[in-house]
Amino acid sequence: MQNNVYENVSIINVINKLNLKKTYIKGDTMYVVCPFCQKGEERKGNMKINTTRNVYRCDVCELSGSSIELYAKKKYVTTKEAFSMLLKENPVLDNIPYNYNNPVKDETYRDIVYRRFLELQVLNKEHHTKLKNMNFTDEYINKYLFKSIEIDNSKKKKICLKLQEEGFKLDGISGFYQDTDFKWTYKAHSGIFIPVILDNKIQGLRIMLDEEYNKDTENIWFSSNNEYNGTKAYNWPMVLKNENDSWFDMYNSKKKTNIIIGTEMILAHKLFNNTGKIVIGVPNNIDKEIISNIVNRLNASHVTLYVDKYTILHTSTLMYVNIIDTLEEQNVKVDFRIAINDNNIGEEIERETRKIA
Ligand SMILES: [Zn+2]
Repeated sequence: MQNNVYENVSIINVINKLNLKKTYIKGDTMYVVCPFCQKGEERKGNMKINTTRNVYRCDVCELSGSSIELYAKKKYVTTKEAFSMLLKENPVLDNIPYNYNNPVKDETYRDIVYRRFLELQVLNKEHHTKLKNMNFTDEYINKYLFKSIEIDNSKKKKICLKLQEEGFKLDGISGFYQDTDFKWTYKAHSGIFIPVILDNKIQGLRIMLDEEYNKDTENIWFSSNNEYNGTKAYNWPMVLKNENDSWFDMYNSKKKTNIIIGTEMILAHKLFNNTGKIVIGVPNNIDKEIISNIVNRLNASHVTLYVDKYTILHTSTLMYVNIIDTLEEQNVKVDFRIAINDNNIGEEIERETRKIA
């Protein structure tokens, strides 16, 4: 039988193993008869259990701690012994569902949490140099909240604890999950967070990895699906525009527009930084639906599509040919350009514009 650690060390399993009497259950709060200060027959339990945080605290004798500590204290063993005892037996869980994929919270809430989360991250010297070499100014870097990802496990948990203390809930926010000690943490990879902004709100975080991931890509989503209380990231697009371009006008444009699309967020930022024109960023797994939607909503008649080397190397050729065909069927003119390690990418557009003028 396959168990996972969460189920074995769950406080619900511990309460069942210790035969503690449950007197109240609502949401993730439960009261049980306290094994340390009550006799066992009482109708009202003194001990409060939080099943999400996996902790207990008695209102009367004030003993408190984790599920493993409760088991250890009652069995007169060390926490290490308690842990291995709990792992050996099959857990008893009352059919309380364990959530491995929370529904994602709305964009307003995600934006607030991600902004605060990014404030608690720093941009290290190495990443700063890397971004400066891509032509980004400090002002640009600060404005778009590029940050290095803290990967130290205890620092990650401290950051999450701080967010929780400030009142933020981390379930439903892609990237965050609870570790085997039930403390909140997040998926970390060595790299830079690139916030994906649409309609002035951070939809999600894209990660530009320091090293390629399976030679497949160097960009992945900050996502935590299949983790305890985790949340999946979606393929959110990004729109980079000048402050004075009204989003409302853009999305209701009667006038035909020219737009630039970059397949990958960092490429889109380079294009925007170098041209100052509206640029749409999409993940380099090049989703036809996303591109088609944006092109229609912005009433684009001309699309300059820049793709990075990963789009070329690892997406089926048919896929972006398919996108071009689909757009051309809608009478959208498509310029297809491959961008490989070019930090001045987009400057050719400026030159062409000047030529026409
Ligand atoms: Zn008690």
